Amino acid sequence: MFDMDGVLLDSMPRHAACWSIRFREDYGFEIPVSEVYANEGRSSRDFIASIIRKYFNREAPQEEVDAMYRRKCATVDSRGGMPPMPGALEAVKAVRAQGMEAVVVTGSGHTKLLNFIKEAYPGLFHTDWMVCANDGIRCKPNPDPYLAGLRNAGGIDPSEAIVIENAPLGVQAGKAAGCYVIAVNTGPLPDAALFEAGADVVLHSMFELAEMICTLRESLA
Ligand code: MG
Repeated sequence: MFDMDGVLLDSMPRHAACWSIRFREDYGFEIPVSEVYANEGRSSRDFIASIIRKYFNREAPQEEVDAMYRRKCATVDSRGGMPPMPGALEAVKAVRAQGMEAVVVTGSGHTKLLNFIKEAYPGLFHTDWMVCANDGIRCKPNPDPYLAGLRNAGGIDPSEAIVIENAPLGVQAGKAAGCYVIAVNTGPLPDAALFEAGADVVLHSMFELAEMICTLRESLA
């Protein structure tokens, strides 16, 4: 089960830049970039509400949150297509070559990004098994997105599934669902943040993951 942002798509630098632009232009606020990475995995609406609560000391009405989310998606989209994460295509192909299925489990509800997955990884994921924020389930770090992925894949036992994550909240979600979690640290956080979240192993690129997948089933047996 693959997370999307920072795992399948090299999207986190753009997300961070666009959050920075939106909060600066719309709120006159310089958001610390660490907030973006520490909260990765949360739904964008939860993220917006939590930042306004923390730094502005008020509860944002739903309409304000929704409007900010729409503007942020438009800012991301205005910059064109999103590049796949280097090595991720090789990693997903390695998974399929091992006879395993591949499922996308993301907290994102960003339609254009979800469509990029279909373009960048043609035929490799069961698109009707995809779990996203639009499915109306509790977001990471709750286990619900990964439990939904297991259900969508036909009722797989958590012990038979592997989660690939780049963010601490996503690692927590995968562990809470009972899965083995491989963290791939593609961002600026220290490895310790991923280990503390419960990662079973921390890698540093999707190429490294592709190599590992080729021997993983033997090492887990
Ligand atoms: Mg991620």
